[in-house]
Amino acid sequence: MKKIQMVDLKGQYEKIKSTVDQSIEEVLNSSAFINGPYVKEFQADLEKYLDVKHVIPCANGTDALQIAMMGLGLEQGDEVITVDFTFAATVEVIALLKLTPVLVDVEPDTFNIDIDALKKAITPKTKAIVPVHLFGQCANMEAILEVAKEHNLYVIEDTAQAIGADYTFSDGTKKKAGTIGNVGTTSFFPSKNLGCYGDGGAIFTNDDELAHIIRGMVNHGMYKRYYHDVIGVNSRLDSIQAAVLKAKLPNLDAYCDARRNAAAYYTNAFSSNPNIITPIISDFTTHVFHQYTLQITNGKRDALHKYLLDQGIPNAIYYPVQLHKQKAYQDDRYNEEDFKVTNSLIETVISLPMHTELTEDQLQFITQTVLDFVG
Ligand SMILES: *Cc1c(COP(=O)(O)O)cnc(C)c1O
Repeated sequence: MKKIQMVDLKGQYEKIKSTVDQSIEEVLNSSAFINGPYVKEFQADLEKYLDVKHVIPCANGTDALQIAMMGLGLEQGDEVITVDFTFAATVEVIALLKLTPVLVDVEPDTFNIDIDALKKAITPKTKAIVPVHLFGQCANMEAILEVAKEHNLYVIEDTAQAIGADYTFSDGTKKKAGTIGNVGTTSFFPSKNLGCYGDGGAIFTNDDELAHIIRGMVNHGMYKRYYHDVIGVNSRLDSIQAAVLKAKLPNLDAYCDARRNAAAYYTNAFSSNPNIITPIISDFTTHVFHQYTLQITNGKRDALHKYLLDQGIPNAIYYPVQLHKQKAYQDDRYNEEDFKVTNSLIETVISLPMHTELTEDQLQFITQTVLDFVG
């Protein structure tokens, strides 16, 4: 059996090596390292794949979030609601822009924003909601859009973990994750579902005016060369990363399927065990399994984490600390009573190896080892 990895980037690369190598070589030969043709081609391909009017590539998923908030004109003191249970980038950029982060609890089964908690957190200062489509499935966007409409709030979808997921509205309309709110953002960090070979990110929107503002903001606030109309940043996707992404995008749906197949194998093996809760998928969304995350309910999570490592099975705790308890984001405003779910998930979640190259013998070994230990 091949050594098990949390993410097998090498195995995936080997299958597309000739296409990727050829594209990278073209960039090297052209010397168009920034804003070369591949950036525009990838942008157009992604717009088509997502069925969205504008994709604005940028340097990483954290910048994408920051620039989306800048583009919407959010200002110091504006409250932005997001979840307590996510990667720190989401809250980091809110704080960095001197906006006021308001963390709320998540749902116990999907790990996504809890709609009642969201409603409860709204004040006259609230300006935006940042739902995170955590681990690969969409948050309840229909409910979120309704709340946003009622209170006149922007919706910024953090799609770093869910590119390729489909959302279905109750009238049957389908949209891709990240194209539902005012603006969506993603990351092309190597281990993400559509990863490049360095850092990369993108912003999506159907709003022409916002797209125009953001296009200038990613490039020093320039709309005309050397004329700086707004304060911007330097956040560009480089041509080599764009070439890699253009080569990989046609495989994204197959990559999502491979992840779903691995997830189905896991769920089938674990679903009858009384000490394990397998991922639950909401009926309005597909799941692209950026992570496959179990909840271990018999108090053995930490012991399982160590045991699996000893058996050569990588695994991770996403996330080990609630954002509202992180030193950088602690605040007297928060009340422990409001974070019951996140406080409990921190103790029970464990993510198993999840990538496009998992083999049946590996899945068999992982599931058997987990079951032997959990009992
Ligand atoms: C990875 C990630 C980001 C940040 O993306 P980078 O490209 O690493 O900056 C933001 N939000 C979430 C939920 C992520 O998982």
